[in-house]
Order: sequence, then C-alpha cells, then structure tokens
Amino acid sequence: MSLIVQKFGGSSVADAERIRRVAGIITDTYKDGNDVIVVVSAQGDTTDDLIEKAHEINAKPSKREMDMLLTTGEQASAALLAMAIEALGFPVTSLNAWQVGITSDSKYSNARIKTISDERLRRELDQHKIIICAGFQGINKFDDITTLGRGGSDTTAVAIAATLRADLCQIFTDVDGVYTADPRKAPNAKKLNEITYDEMLELASLGAQVLCNRSVELAKKYRVNLEVCSSFKRVPGTIVKEDVKVEKMLITGVAKDNNVTRISVIGLDDIPGVAFKLFSLLGQNNINVDIILQSIGRHGTKDISFTVASDNTQTALDILHECYPDNTITHDDNVSKVSVVGSGMQSNAGVAAKMFEALYSVGVNIQMISTSEIKISVLIDRNDSDKALVAIHDAFI
Ligand code: ADP
Ligand code: ASP
Ligand code: MG
Repeated sequence: MSLIVQKFGGSSVADAERIRRVAGIITDTYKDGNDVIVVVSAQGDTTDDLIEKAHEINAKPSKREMDMLLTTGEQASAALLAMAIEALGFPVTSLNAWQVGITSDSKYSNARIKTISDERLRRELDQHKIIICAGFQGINKFDDITTLGRGGSDTTAVAIAATLRADLCQIFTDVDGVYTADPRKAPNAKKLNEITYDEMLELASLGAQVLCNRSVELAKKYRVNLEVCSSFKRVPGTIVKEDVKVEKMLITGVAKDNNVTRISVIGLDDIPGVAFKLFSLLGQNNINVDIILQSIGRHGTKDISFTVASDNTQTALDILHECYPDNTITHDDNVSKVSVVGSGMQSNAGVAAKMFEALYSVGVNIQMISTSEIKISVLIDRNDSDKALVAIHDAFI
C-alpha cells in the first residue's frame, strides 16, 4: 500500500461536473489500495473574484482580512469535494489548516509553512478515510489564518507529502504535464516526460505558473516524488526529480512573467556608493530587485534601472520619491520578462545570440538583459511578449 498526495487546482474543481470527475480519480486511487490525502484549491476564479469583491468595499484592505476572506474559497471546495466522495459511498473527511495543524509565519498574504502536524492526518488515515485538505492556508502564532501566496496550494500538497513521507505527490491541473513553454501560448510546445528540480525551479520562478516555485523548492529539499498531470486526461504526466535520464537539451524551456515593473532613477551622482545606497534602501524595505541596468556616467551623472515584482511597485515608488526628491523617477508596468532556461546552456556558446536573433526576427526590442549559468532573461514590451515567447521557443525547440 502506498501513501499518495493528490492536489487539484482551481480549474479541476471549477463546477459540479468537474468535482465529480475529480472524486472519481481520488476514489479510483483509494480503490487500488492506497492511502490518499487530497489538497484542493478554490473553485475556478474564486480567489480573483474574492479579491475583486474586497476592493469594491475597501481600496486598501488589510492583509489579515484578505487572508480571512480568501481562505474561504479553499474551505468551500474542500467541503464540496468531500460531499462528492461521500455521495460515491467512500469514507472521507475535509480539514482546514487548523484542523490539520499547519503552522506558518505571520506574513499575511505570503506566509511560509513552518510545521505540519501528522497526528490528525495519521489518525484519519488509520480509520481508512480519504482526507481532503484545504490548500493555500496556514495558522500563525496569533492563531490567525494566513495564505501562502498565489498558487500556494501546490506548496501545501508538497509540504504534506514531505511531512508524511508520501510515496508520490501528484499535482493535477488543466494541462497534462510540464511543457517546453506554456502550451496555451506556444502551439509547438513539447511535453517533457521528466524535468530536474533545478530546471523546474527556474521555470517556475521565471513565470511558468504550472507549479508554484516554493513547492518545487520543498520538493527538492525533501526529495518528494512529484508528478504534474491532467485531471481531464488520464495519461502519464511529467515527473520532477533530481536527475533525468534523457540526453541534455540545449534549453529546457521558455517562460514568461508579467508580474514585473521597470523602475528608473535618473540623474544619480556618478560616484562610488550610489548603487549601494539605492539597493540597500530597497532591501531594507523587503523589496527584491531582479534585473539591474546602470548607464555609463556622463557629465557626472548616471541612471539606474531595475525591475521589481508588480505588487511591490507602489511601495518602491513611494520610498524612492521620498529619498530621491531631486531625481526623476520613472516606471513602466507594461513590460514582460521572457526567459530561456536550461542547464545545457552552460557548455554551449551562442544561446544568447540565438535568443536575440529570434527576437530580431519578429521585430521585438530588448529593454534589459540578465544572464546566469542556466538562464537568460530579457525585458520587453508586454504587447510583444506572446510573439516573443513563440519566436524564442521555436528557434530552440
Ligand atoms: P491550477 O489551477 O491547476 O493550479 P494553474 O493555472 O496555476 O493551474 O497552472 C496551469 C497553467 O500553467 C496551464 O494552464 C498553463 O497555461 C500554464 N503554464 C505556464 N507555463 C507552463 C509550462 N511550461 N507547462 C505547462 N503549463 C504551463
Ligand atoms: N486559490 C489560490 C490562488 O488562486 C491558491 C491556489 O490556487 O493554489 O492563488
Ligand atoms: Mg496553480
């Protein structure tokens, strides 16, 4: 007998028919003699709808109350899925974070899981129950409910699988695996049978939302056997693991991230310590900076541009206006970051040139570039991002 954790995303449980289909997958796994723990997301666009609803009431609601609101989505789908399984005649119980004992830090809206108790889960499993856990939530030291960041149900699933040393953690979604690019944007994208934790982590961190990056981090740390598969088609999915057998490709995939804003501070003094001061200021305010570009100094001044996650834009601008009252500060949130990822590029020259040629071939201008051993990212106009993704993808794969 195996212990299998199965996570179903929002689109997989969007309506009654889909919930019944998912109940069928779960009970088939149970009938095969496995212990099954399920983690479920809010139905369809519930989370986005709740965010919209909150903003109709209050333009700047507190993060604590937002978490209180958003976690209702997962609670509802956990109960509904449990009811569908009850209707099929199987023993089942749905549980919230406090019932399982999932503790988190206190960072409302983007909390990190600290501990998961196995006591209640083991007790329910000992009674041969199927367990349905509400994903995306934790309880902090104030006994408040927190959320784990968008896409955080993936993290709940992997964390539970790690705690209980599950034999397999399956992430069921609306595509049948991890592709070389988002298959909805790049029609020639190819499904990968296997991908390494490291490459998946890069892809997820660079915008491939098929898995949330923290879930991949945890899977790597605790060596969780992870599979991404479809809740609509019963075919083998993509296995995420430490080493893959297949011959290394030059690149593993292409990802796009729209959650990015470029900020520029113009006319800084061209003297030592200026970048230090600017980025310390942002760091002290917990603002992560990604791509950085500094102009060559001219007439004693220089400009520094950098990107931040879009949700940090307003905070960053407020801080900069306050601390650099004499400088012009501009920003552009109509940008996208498109990246190629692959450990194969470490030993191959010419990847950057090929990527830039692909962009040139479709007339896309590059605003910023950043590279590391296993990825190259460019910042471009958001209106160009889909054609850029396709052009880059098709140039390599
Ligand atoms: P869920 O609601 O199941 O969590 P998500 O919308 O979070 O689903 O993630 C699945 C989506 O991720 C797919 O519908 C697909 O459009 C997108 N996606 C982005 N990049 C990739 C990729 N490289 N491979 C597969 N899907 C991807
Ligand atoms: N419902 C949450 C979201 O939409 C969490 C999740 O789906 O994983 O981000
Ligand atoms: Mg998701």
